[in-house]
Amino acid sequence: MKKVLIIGGGFAGCAASHLINRDLKNYEVTLVEKSVYLGAGNKTQYYGGHPYTFGPRHFLTQDREVYEYLNALVPIRLCPEHEFITYVSSDSNFYNFPINEDDIPSMPDKENIYKELKSLNDVSSALNFEEYWIASVGKTLYGKFVNDYNKKMWLIDCNSEFDTFKWSPKGIALKKGPRAAWDVAISGYPYDKRGYDPYFEIATENTKVLLNTDIEVFDIPSKRVFFDGDWHSFDLIINTISPSVIFENVFGELPFIGRDLLKFVLPSEFVFPKNVYFIYFAGQEPFTRLVEYKKFTHHKSQHSLIGMEIPSLNGSHYPLPMKKWQAVADKYHKLQPDGVFSIGRAGSYRYEVDIDDCIRQAMDLVKAIS
Ligand SMILES: Cc1cc2nc3c(=O)[nH]c(=O)nc-3n(C[C@H](O)[C@H](O)[C@H](O)COP(=O)(O)OP(=O)(O)OC[C@H]3O[C@@H](n4cnc5c(N)ncnc54)[C@H](O)[C@@H]3O)c2cc1C
Repeated sequence: MKKVLIIGGGFAGCAASHLINRDLKNYEVTLVEKSVYLGAGNKTQYYGGHPYTFGPRHFLTQDREVYEYLNALVPIRLCPEHEFITYVSSDSNFYNFPINEDDIPSMPDKENIYKELKSLNDVSSALNFEEYWIASVGKTLYGKFVNDYNKKMWLIDCNSEFDTFKWSPKGIALKKGPRAAWDVAISGYPYDKRGYDPYFEIATENTKVLLNTDIEVFDIPSKRVFFDGDWHSFDLIINTISPSVIFENVFGELPFIGRDLLKFVLPSEFVFPKNVYFIYFAGQEPFTRLVEYKKFTHHKSQHSLIGMEIPSLNGSHYPLPMKKWQAVADKYHKLQPDGVFSIGRAGSYRYEVDIDDCIRQAMDLVKAIS
């Protein structure tokens, strides 16, 4: 029997656990999770009887195989009609997000915007995030939708500090055509009242799961870790936490941005417009997004639970999308001996790794191991 250690029981760790047990023979899997539950921020919690997760945790993918895999285990209710909107306080208006060409006619400075769109610079010569976005949509649209949002999201003063351009929602700067923001992707959420929780249970059925367990010392070169008063050795280690942590920060600690989540119930069956599940706030408000959970969960109530995300330093949720930190993460990845792998959002140290990407990375890894 080969012994496998999975560090962290979020989506990436649980997907790796499930796929090893399903697809490989003669592997014995141990998953160590420091929290008292699996799933991390994707676990369903309750407030006033309303189910919620830490932030929206909407399942969104263009990867059909990943969708079919998850849907077979926790059937997904599709919501292709789902639209995102952004509040732009300078215009006192809500617009579609990604920025949609159809909204420009209703903007007070439309002439200026059209003029800027006609004389855009070449995006390929952009050296930083700000230049990239101004070259993609012009200064005015950048000012309305991106400038303040990005600064508050990453707790930074200046967007030119950023030299990678991936920004939520993935890869679209100025959208033409349908307003349903994800007309090219599969968009949904589990039908189950407990959201993704049944997945975490199924995925770890044949795994030894150690909850509430903190690894005290990592000796990754020797593929062993110290917890519960003993050293434990493994043939394979699949890491899903910050690569700097498993190497005791030898090249310095990788930084992350955190989040606070405020929850409040409003006395209305629904609060947001029909097809809107969450709303971005692109100005100086201290929060980034509001989510109306029952749009996803279909929870029945005369009231509605809203979640408000406030960027903070609480928690390690968002790896910084800057080349200098990604280079440090890559240095850590190169320290990994044969048989040690890092996947997931923190493990890869890539902000753009969402739920679907965690599953894809686990699928690719288990194929590579077999
Ligand atoms: C607020 C918010 C909203 C989001 N919304 C969406 C969305 O709508 N759609 C989408 O696709 N993605 C969304 N994401 C991203 C997506 O949820 C994550 O990419 C994904 O859940 C990451 O899974 P993971 O397994 O890589 O990491 P995590 O979920 O962070 O899991 C890592 C696990 O490791 C554990 N751990 C940490 N340190 C140790 C240690 N020393 N020893 C043992 N265990 C440890 C943690 O407790 C945690 O359970 C959102 C993220 C956030 C923060």
